[in-house]
Amino acid sequence: MAEKPQPVRVLYCAVCSLPAEYCEFGPDFEKCKPWLIQNAPDLYPDLTKDSSSKEVDKATEQLQSTGISSAASSATKQEEVKRLPGGKIKKKDKKEVIIEKVVRNKRKSITTVKGLELFGVKLSDASKKLGKKFATGASVVKGPTEKEQIDVQGDISYDVVDFITETWPDVPETAIFFIEDGKKVHAA
Ligand SMILES: [Zn+2]
Repeated sequence: MAEKPQPVRVLYCAVCSLPAEYCEFGPDFEKCKPWLIQNAPDLYPDLTKDSSSKEVDKATEQLQSTGISSAASSATKQEEVKRLPGGKIKKKDKKEVIIEKVVRNKRKSITTVKGLELFGVKLSDASKKLGKKFATGASVVKGPTEKEQIDVQGDISYDVVDFITETWPDVPETAIFFIEDGKKVHAA
């Protein structure tokens, strides 16, 4: 079979709808230009040559500016991400010593001391000192949150603050709290 001759294909400009070669006589040649560069570069070689360098410049510029802005936005994102765990860490590491009197078996009370390690106090050492000072049993145990705390036998809650601030001067009285009836109360 002989191939049918292809009909002459006229390229119509998508912008002004004139045949592409008439664009320059059309009403909006400026607007046609980008389309022509893309779709009919052979018809307007000057246009292509002329603005391709401009386009390159523009593209480079765009790249640079998007590069900068994306870098800036990613920096912001990073900061946000950093801030989140930072805030959490701050909360977690809030330097406080929490003293709570816990009554067990109705008559037997225990005073728990939490957070001394945040002030660089070695808990095993503190436990020994507390036991000695109050002539009672004291031990380092894991609290409900798996965090170590000191359990001291008996109610020493009202003497323990002075002892802590005297023994470990790095612990300010303002950082010591009691838990009373489920509420956190300043010891100072
Ligand atoms: Zn056109």
